[in-house]
Amino acid sequence: MSFKELGLSQALLNAIERKGYEIPSPIQEKCIPVVLEGKDVLASAQTGTGKTAGFALPMLQRLSQESQKHNRPVRALILTPTRELAAQVLEDVNDFGKAVDMRAAVIFGGVSQVPQVKAIRNGVDVLVATPGRLLDLVDQRLLSLSNVEILVLDEADRMLDMGFLRDIKRILALLPSKRQNLLFSATFSKDIRKLAESFLNHPVTVSATPENTTVEKIVQRTIRVDKDRKTSLTIKLIAEGNWQQVLVFTRTKHGANRLSEKLQIANISSAAIHGNKTQNARTAALAGFKTGKIRVLVATDIAARGLDIPLLPHVINFELPNIPEDYVHRIGRTGRAGASGEAISLVGGDEVDYVKAIEKLLGEQFKKDIIPGYEPVDPETAPEKKQQGQRPPRKPNPNGNPRNKKSGGGGNKSGAGAGNKSGGGSGGNSKWKGRR
Ligand code: ADP
Ligand code: MG
Repeated sequence: MSFKELGLSQALLNAIERKGYEIPSPIQEKCIPVVLEGKDVLASAQTGTGKTAGFALPMLQRLSQESQKHNRPVRALILTPTRELAAQVLEDVNDFGKAVDMRAAVIFGGVSQVPQVKAIRNGVDVLVATPGRLLDLVDQRLLSLSNVEILVLDEADRMLDMGFLRDIKRILALLPSKRQNLLFSATFSKDIRKLAESFLNHPVTVSATPENTTVEKIVQRTIRVDKDRKTSLTIKLIAEGNWQQVLVFTRTKHGANRLSEKLQIANISSAAIHGNKTQNARTAALAGFKTGKIRVLVATDIAARGLDIPLLPHVINFELPNIPEDYVHRIGRTGRAGASGEAISLVGGDEVDYVKAIEKLLGEQFKKDIIPGYEPVDPETAPEKKQQGQRPPRKPNPNGNPRNKKSGGGGNKSGAGAGNKSGGGSGGNSKWKGRR
């Protein structure tokens, strides 16, 4: 299947080629024709499968087919949960939109509204927005949504998790009732279905992959380690593996800052990215990470929501999320667009139940490793050691294999219920390749 066969215009086909996409991803194949027909769509597909182009391309084509209004009122509204995602979606929309003379702008909180208002005044066909700032500008009467023909809820599951349901409902009430609605989500919860039922009109449901699964090319493993030794193990993994681009997730903002500082002390360039950072600091950190200036980006879950970092080879869950779906989002940051990646979760004694919940959600068992020199001594898995009250030596063993490679690296003790069903680089959709 080619993009051309999906019914896209020559102008868009040229833009797609410039962007380096050769063939449509499975979700794009299913989504584009239906959106072109003007139908409502409920789409679910794993992270990193190209959902953005799946809605942006047909949306732009539809908008460009109709005669343009002279003052360019907002005709398509794309709602996203986070500022970063909004900025990224805008980038994609612009890459394609310029080819069909569609103007786009982004609005989100945390930065001055002045340039955003100015852009809207100048006229935009497509507006990408986070809910808070959008409502803010509407309340100030600086923005009208009465000409919106197409509404996209991107990463709808994240929006619900972040408590945006009320905002979404308020926004829906501001839109003309006759419009096309598209809802995109990586996971498919009951709440999402309920939301979908509440505003989609006879939607076509498209899904490209089994629900709630992770990209097969990601090698996933867990390492049992005591909480207070996670920092030193993280440093060891990164340094000894010579990893150059690593995304690390912590549960708290404070934890992210602390770990980032420790990494820097260990001479590993690092930045923290979370909700307490200014937008400029977040943008700078992400840019530095993408260009390779910053080797480790330490993030809270907010950064997981929709960030597209192409070909990210390593993700470390320094702490596991207590919401299993967050795990899927986190590791969706690796193995993007058909590239392979590795996701390692450091599991403290109090996090074993989180692993079980995640395994249950995904229907697979993770490989469970213990690193020599970092054997856990907390009660959950090592009762005998607890009785002895003895810690293993703090120093990592100098001549041991630093990481237990999946192919039988020495000293690989398995925790309870070990088993490895996580896809090891094979399978997956290899037909479409990510941009370089
Ligand atoms: P999702 O929204 O499903 O998480 P994105 O739309 O962010 O995924 O796309 C993930 C990555 O894949 C991006 O880098 C994007 O540019 C790239 N991509 C999307 N579609 C294609 C395609 N058809 N061919 C190659 N790369 C693509
Ligand atoms: Mg997306």
